[in-house]
Amino acid sequence: MPGTLFIVTAPSGAGKTTLVHGLLQRDPRVQLSISFTTRAPRPGEQDGREYRFVDVPTFRALRDRGEFLEWAEVHGNYYGTSKAWLREQIAAGRDTLLEIDWQGAQQVRKAFPGSIGVFVLPPSVEALEARLRGRGTDSDEVISRRLLGARGEMRHVGEFDYVIINDEIDAALDDLIAVVRASRLRYECQHQRHPQYFNFLEQD
Ligand code: 5GP
Repeated sequence: MPGTLFIVTAPSGAGKTTLVHGLLQRDPRVQLSISFTTRAPRPGEQDGREYRFVDVPTFRALRDRGEFLEWAEVHGNYYGTSKAWLREQIAAGRDTLLEIDWQGAQQVRKAFPGSIGVFVLPPSVEALEARLRGRGTDSDEVISRRLLGARGEMRHVGEFDYVIINDEIDAALDDLIAVVRASRLRYECQHQRHPQYFNFLEQD
């Protein structure tokens, strides 16, 4: 049975990474897709864990060879998702989660129409600004650029199946877990999981 593809999108600073890591801990059946990026690693980030960090010429070469299912330029850096790897994972039945921006989400949803889109909103624009500043890893210029981008990004919320407002992290995590659990109860999933039961019901 193929896996489910979850796409989680949020402006940076909405708390998406904390949420996603919480989900991965609580539900080991969900794995994270690791993107390629040209942005520099932040303190504590490791190549191959948060991202595969590559330089611009390497990224462009991969892109020109058609290796990306989607790619986007976000805040002046390139980000991309490996096509072959993702197809293999889904075909092998692994539930896989992509943390990507709205542009990438649009492209992936075309390629995987069965995917489930989740948008994470910060409690408010003011709260988003406070979170970005509190992180302390980015310069003022980077923060201003991200805030401007965040508003534009949040306008795409209507393109997603589910919206989680990350006001309180534990409640938001419960919401995300509920989305994943509900997705596994969809008719087509249950049908594939219990073929004998469903085939019996469908007999005359
Ligand atoms: P950050 O640099 O803060 O880790 O991520 C910046 C933005 O890039 C976030 O909105 C994140 O979701 C997005 N992003 C990360 N990986 C990918 C990817 O593979 N494709 C796309 N389109 N966006 C990505």
